[in-house]
Amino acid sequence: MKQVSFLLLIIFLTAGTVVAQKTSKPGNIIIVSIDGLRWKEVFQGAEKQLITGKKFISQDSAQVMKKYWAGDEQERRIKLMPFVWNTIAKNGQLYGNRDLGSKVNVKNPYWFSYPGRNENLTGYADPKVNSNDYPDNPNKNVLEFIDRQKGYKGKVVAFASWDAVARIINRNRNGLLVNNPFEDLKENNLTEAEKLANEIQHYEPQIWGDGERLDANTYALAKSYIMAKHPKVVYLDLADTDDDAHEGKYDFYLDAIHNIDAMIGRLWDYLQNDPFYKNNTTIMVVPDHGRGEGDQWTSHGSSIPHANDTWLMVIGPNIKAIGEVKNNGQIYQDQYAKTIARILGFNFTSVNPIGGVINSVMK
Ligand SMILES: [Zn+2]
Repeated sequence: MKQVSFLLLIIFLTAGTVVAQKTSKPGNIIIVSIDGLRWKEVFQGAEKQLITGKKFISQDSAQVMKKYWAGDEQERRIKLMPFVWNTIAKNGQLYGNRDLGSKVNVKNPYWFSYPGRNENLTGYADPKVNSNDYPDNPNKNVLEFIDRQKGYKGKVVAFASWDAVARIINRNRNGLLVNNPFEDLKENNLTEAEKLANEIQHYEPQIWGDGERLDANTYALAKSYIMAKHPKVVYLDLADTDDDAHEGKYDFYLDAIHNIDAMIGRLWDYLQNDPFYKNNTTIMVVPDHGRGEGDQWTSHGSSIPHANDTWLMVIGPNIKAIGEVKNNGQIYQDQYAKTIARILGFNFTSVNPIGGVINSVMK
């Protein structure tokens, strides 16, 4: 009798497991924004003219060459972004290698940060959004849309290295948790990791003023929160790349890219080892705008040719593993909002004219 009920219990548990596997759990997504990272560094690695010239390198040039240079382009880009090329390129998708005919572009006419992030998150290349000082964003974004869906309420959060992000997402309107530079996490039951992340951000040098935080600190806050609270949608907005580039420090810009690649890689590894996220979480990586070419690499904006050329990466359980895309396709950044919602199984709509889903993303 005892044995029979034990057997029944085993059968019951096994059946339960099978059912649980078949029911697709509502998915998670982490959207990483990298401010002003050019497609050239992503697909070609360090640029010869910039890394070998003296003009934009301030650290030991032999060390910089050792870290990031290789004569072969494929080898060079792996040195700069090993996670992207060893993992996303094998199991996900990368769009925007213009040498292979894959084009990604900013649709808004400004080619700088607030308008670019507005376009990415709202799906609308709004001509009225024309300044980084633009007040609270009137356009509805995909984050607040997902936050209203069943199972996602209070599970959509953002962490930013730049304080304009709170206005771009308009947390005053939607009440989303948007952790801006030098703001502490305030929830009850903070873990030791969250407390430490809160604390150390106040010890960093404020190199770019009080409106910007170094990416390492933004990452620490985001990762400790992810580990503790298991949000389902995270928007992680990183910005060291743009700041280093504006200062004309190509070596620091390369370091920022290399470090961000490692942060995304470590986050991905974490997700694969957490039952909440494993096989149920997508990472999408996008910039807000591109930058110029030659000596104009430091700058962007509509007067800088090619500052509207960008790229897109995505990896996840429902993403077709097509790797580096080689075709004559054209993607615009106003398609991201609807695509993010679609990855989670939702149809994002807006009163604004928004871009359509990138169909090639989904399996
Ligand atoms: Zn900039």
